[in-house]
Amino acid sequence: MNASTKAYEELMTRLKRTALLASCSAVLEWDEQTYLPALGSEHRANQLALLAGMVHEQATNPEIGNLLQELETNADFTEGSFEQANVREARHEFDRATKLPRRLVEELSRVATLSHHAWVQARKANQFNDFLPWLEQMIDLKREEASAIGYQGRSAYDALLDEYEPGATSEMIEQAFLPLRDELVSLVSAINNSAVAPEISILTRKYPVEKQREFSISAAKAIGFNFDAGRLDIAAHPFCSGFGPGDCRLTTRYDEHHFPGAFFGTLHEAGHGIYEQGLPKEHFGTPSGHSTSLGIHESQSRMWENLVGRSRAFWDVFFQPAQALFPEALGNVSQEEFYRAINDVRPSFIRVEADEVTYNLHIMLRFELEKSLISGDLKPADLESAWNEKFVEYFGIKPDTSANGCLQDVHWSAGLIGYFPTYALGNMYAAQFFNAAEKELGDINKLIASGDFVPLKEWLNKNIHSRGKLYRANRLVEVVAGESLSHEPLIAQLQNKYSELYNL
Ligand code: ZN
Repeated sequence: MNASTKAYEELMTRLKRTALLASCSAVLEWDEQTYLPALGSEHRANQLALLAGMVHEQATNPEIGNLLQELETNADFTEGSFEQANVREARHEFDRATKLPRRLVEELSRVATLSHHAWVQARKANQFNDFLPWLEQMIDLKREEASAIGYQGRSAYDALLDEYEPGATSEMIEQAFLPLRDELVSLVSAINNSAVAPEISILTRKYPVEKQREFSISAAKAIGFNFDAGRLDIAAHPFCSGFGPGDCRLTTRYDEHHFPGAFFGTLHEAGHGIYEQGLPKEHFGTPSGHSTSLGIHESQSRMWENLVGRSRAFWDVFFQPAQALFPEALGNVSQEEFYRAINDVRPSFIRVEADEVTYNLHIMLRFELEKSLISGDLKPADLESAWNEKFVEYFGIKPDTSANGCLQDVHWSAGLIGYFPTYALGNMYAAQFFNAAEKELGDINKLIASGDFVPLKEWLNKNIHSRGKLYRANRLVEVVAGESLSHEPLIAQLQNKYSELYNL
């Protein structure tokens, strides 16, 4: 065995051990969100802090730096191999982790906990000013974090974005967002002016929770989520957590008088779950066994939720079973009325409840504001007025309360800055991947209408999931779809679908 092979194996052993430890925290975090009794939260916080410290210590062990240096100097990896990708990504993660001084890491974690608590209270009380001092502290800390990481030739914001979407820059995102925003604003206004008005009250009739659960599980199973390697539980803020090979947890929440929440929420999380379940097991704990980026992750959830789940073809299969399960709510509703209701488009205040057309505008607004907060062009004290002004510009309505405005999302209180754009990137990538899949598989809607979800799932397994972090997101889309990130496929799909729905 030569020195490089030995160094590579030693590096992989260390990465795998760290990932194994981190996956233990993931189990505890999932439990915290699902089953933890209220009085257990303090003890859980101690458990999680201990594990976080251990993970950070392992991830920043100087020996990893030595191994990386040895490999970068002497190893001769095949271009485009998993080995090459593992070393590239391990370097990226090691540098990010070691550049942050321990004091800053601890301060960020401490302020995030307190700021989150303040945000919950401020949102309840509808008082932006109660949250403002925490937002100010958080923005200062995130700017400090960006400087510690460094961002030569780019913006401070890019250093933060890089954590969620490695390799992405705000310039690249703006290039896609600006034309997307203009197209969306005009599409939304055309829809608003249309005489067509779907009957959405059918979605808020009575849908018994037990039946919703049964129906959501049957749909998640049908599209390919493997329940022998996963579960579905209830959480206040739904998420998907892949603990490792053979164990992926989905969560959702039920409202007896709102059908779309749990159903499309489950399809969305199942889309994330199918990605996690499709990662190559043999690479667990190394970058090659990990998802590419949050944007690519979101492309998977959005594809199943919107491009599949909100299509006519999907309801050719699922409408009759839905009627059988919910006779009281859907007995006198036609499939077409139902299809139109679940695709209702209208400007609304809350991002997580937005339809697929207006959704991206919610993201762009946040992207622009958080970028200005980090650059210093926008003072935290002016956030609320800037938010409301932009909201009117994009949606034509002004948030009636802080809770329905700039206090609605958890992200900023938790220090997740640079995270929002990944949602809209996911929508764009989903459209690009869907077109690429269609080129190979033929008419996907025809497959869906026959209840056959296997070809699409296997196509995603092969082209995206099995590749782990072999490529960065911007390269993956070139390899898979033959083009770089683009807003055009998404706009074309939306225009096509909604022109028909709203007689535009
Ligand atoms: Zn998601």
